[in-house]
Amino acid sequence: MTSSHEEVRTRFLAAMGRGRLHHAWLLHGPSGVGKAELGRHLAGDFLCERNRGGGGEAACGACHACRLMAAGSHPDFLLVERAWDEKNKRHKRDLGVDQVRAMLDFLSLSGAESERRAALLSGAELMNAQAANALLKGLEEPGEGSLLILTCADVTRLPATIRSRCLLAPVRPLDDAACEARLAAAGMPADVLPFALRLAAGRPGRVMALLEPDIASALMEWDELTRDLGRGDVGRIQAWIAAHVRHAPHELIAETALANARPALEAPPPDAAAMDALMDAAWRLAAWPEEARRRTLNPATSLLAHVLALRVALRAAGREAARA
Ligand SMILES: [Zn+2]
Repeated sequence: MTSSHEEVRTRFLAAMGRGRLHHAWLLHGPSGVGKAELGRHLAGDFLCERNRGGGGEAACGACHACRLMAAGSHPDFLLVERAWDEKNKRHKRDLGVDQVRAMLDFLSLSGAESERRAALLSGAELMNAQAANALLKGLEEPGEGSLLILTCADVTRLPATIRSRCLLAPVRPLDDAACEARLAAAGMPADVLPFALRLAAGRPGRVMALLEPDIASALMEWDELTRDLGRGDVGRIQAWIAAHVRHAPHELIAETALANARPALEAPPPDAAAMDALMDAAWRLAAWPEEARRRTLNPATSLLAHVLALRVALRAAGREAARA
């Protein structure tokens, strides 16, 4: 089976080989599936010297252009992503109009190494309205020899006017073998790999925090604590939250507990009320990372409340299932 990543790249190379490459590609799919990495490969194919005369080959990996790409210093490749806000120690909320204008200027110039230039705009759904307007103008007047690759986790959040001017290429989660290969290549230790693979569910980029040994051991302990949450030890759960909620990524905390509750969520509903309560508790836990980001209340308190509510709901659903 070929992955959607390979399908997109094959399609891209074929179009380039025919001299009919669309000037703007929109790679869309869930977060963590590797859209930006795929985008870099496409840009590398576009800039590789073996394709300069108009070929459609995969990047050779050996020419001057490929070496510059690998070193992250190709003068004709630009990566645009959310800026880092040093003061608040996090990424800015959106992609700004200045960033988009600078990118369009970059694409309008002739390349330094050849006539080609490529830009990768990561997280296009994060553009604010002004930025999206600026991009729209750029899409209407593409520069000669320019390639724009956009990645987007939620294509419905992009204006239809932008979507309609791009070539849409869906990127799906990886199958287990490809996901495992990707995690292993990133250096995921063998003892963490099975857990990482289960948690990633085909989106390796979501679990890269597990490369950090402290985070991996904390989350694997959390996995064990929430494995049979209905019977879970409340004292140990509380102690774990107090010790780890500050440094373990909130998305992964929620996802670990939810992955363990999934068999109960997917079981045939024993009782409508019990099932509703279970769904509601799971939904609240899934929404907790965002809730913790937005509100100033103590994330440990709200996490404990959500986990205990899920525990109660799992017990109730378990009782109903036993009665049925
Ligand atoms: Zn090359």
